[in-house]
Amino acid sequence: MKGMKCPTCGYEDSKVIDSRPVEENNSIKRRRECLSCHARFTTYEIIDQTTPVVLKKDGSRELFDKNKLAAGLYKACEKRPVDAKAVADEIEAMVQGSMKSEITSHRIGEMAMEKLRQLDPVAYVRFASVHREFKDIDTFMREISELKQEEEKNKEE
Ligand SMILES: [Zn+2]
Repeated sequence: MKGMKCPTCGYEDSKVIDSRPVEENNSIKRRRECLSCHARFTTYEIIDQTTPVVLKKDGSRELFDKNKLAAGLYKACEKRPVDAKAVADEIEAMVQGSMKSEITSHRIGEMAMEKLRQLDPVAYVRFASVHREFKDIDTFMREISELKQEEEKNKEE
């Protein structure tokens, strides 16, 4: 994160040792360690609720980008009776509502999957195959048969 200069040497990159939310003023208190001189310092960061930070699989971080999520959803929902934009809006609201300054891209994918699962099995499987990176046809088939079982169960009820 930019703007967290080390007060000792001015180096711009630091690692976070500890974070805890400060609820009264909607900020996050972080203990940081300078990557250059290893001095430790504390920062208070205001939680920007409009743009949560997404922690990606490779460990990098980026601001939550609804358009990116929507692009994946549009693909999954192509020619399906699902409003991809509405799903993206809903996920965005959930991400913002989680009150966390950081969320994993994995978790966002899971949220989208849960949502699609309720709406349309085809869109769900398409999205899941990308998100979970189904390695082989077996995993894929298992997911589909689980879906079918669930459908059967719902019919019985
Ligand atoms: Zn330093």
